[in-house]
Amino acid sequence: MLDTLTIRTQRTSASRLPELDLDHLEFGKVFSDHMFVVDFRNGEWQEPQIVPYGDMSVSPANSALHYGQSIFEGMKAYKNEQGDIALFRPTDNLHRLNASAERMCMPTLPEELFMQGLTQLIRLDAGWVPNVAGMSLYIRPFMFATDGMLGVRPSDTYRFMIITCPVAAFYNKPLRVRFEEKYVRSAEGGAGFAKNAGNYGAAMYPTKLAQQEGYNQLIWTDASEHRYVEESGTMNAMFVIDGRLITPALSSSILDGITRRSVLQLAHDWDMPVEERKVSAREILEAQANGTLEEAFGVGTAATIAPISVIGQHGQDYTLPATSEASFSRRVAAELDAIRTGAAPDVHGWMVQV
Ligand SMILES: *Cc1c(COP(=O)(O)O)cnc(C)c1O
Repeated sequence: MLDTLTIRTQRTSASRLPELDLDHLEFGKVFSDHMFVVDFRNGEWQEPQIVPYGDMSVSPANSALHYGQSIFEGMKAYKNEQGDIALFRPTDNLHRLNASAERMCMPTLPEELFMQGLTQLIRLDAGWVPNVAGMSLYIRPFMFATDGMLGVRPSDTYRFMIITCPVAAFYNKPLRVRFEEKYVRSAEGGAGFAKNAGNYGAAMYPTKLAQQEGYNQLIWTDASEHRYVEESGTMNAMFVIDGRLITPALSSSILDGITRRSVLQLAHDWDMPVEERKVSAREILEAQANGTLEEAFGVGTAATIAPISVIGQHGQDYTLPATSEASFSRRVAAELDAIRTGAAPDVHGWMVQV
């Protein structure tokens, strides 16, 4: 295993940084110069490496490709005005990665390996972390099976990697969403709480249908009755009804978002009433009808806080009031931004300097 945490580093001989055009970034298309790689073999993690970002070869019988033993995380690094770089709640991502790994019969990652890989990679590619308001370095840790063998059983070997890309805001307009009451993202007892690749592939078709109808995203409802809200796309869903912040309680079918957790904490800090419970599509549309639905928004690392302006159901669109500076979603988005860039005190110890 790791006697020392020296990570063998092979630097690129041709940095692509001079070609980086921050004004024309598409999410997840431009990757930083380096990537972190470590293989799992013979029951242990082998020597970690940082190498130039690039293609790799895998067996055509790779079991991640055939049976989906593949998990990921999504996190961000931010640069403050002094140019220092910090990560937002990185150990929360590690714990969730390891929960996903257990659900998918994959090996867990020791904290030191994860944190050293992450910090050394980001230090090396520090020039790729934008110091422009609203921009950050998106970090994608992921793990997949590497056995070349067609038997349906957990692989013996795995690869864990980290790749990064500079990103701007994900959605630039309030979202049009609709309730999904036919297809299912994940069911109670399934693997919806884990960030495993298969959850996302299966969600693409229903999402595509909604986009063809002019919506940006879906609001998933529960698999057994299609009554209760689960999530919105790859974001946790939140509603402000009559001054109370309401979000679906966690379950095995809902992803335990770190942004969700952080927004709930800030709401507590601000003495805003918070309810984590089942919330039905009907309750939301009734609140819309009687004027008590003040806000609806999605929360997640990639999208941060994404306000919802329209909710559709059965071909009808229901419009929400426009947000103002005083709206909870706007205030919480600003506070999270301020904490991440060092403009507001980090009272919960969320930021980890790189
Ligand atoms: C990643 C993800 C989220 C958001 O989680 P964060 O930790 O806040 O980024 C929500 N729902 C799904 C399905 C996700 O994959």
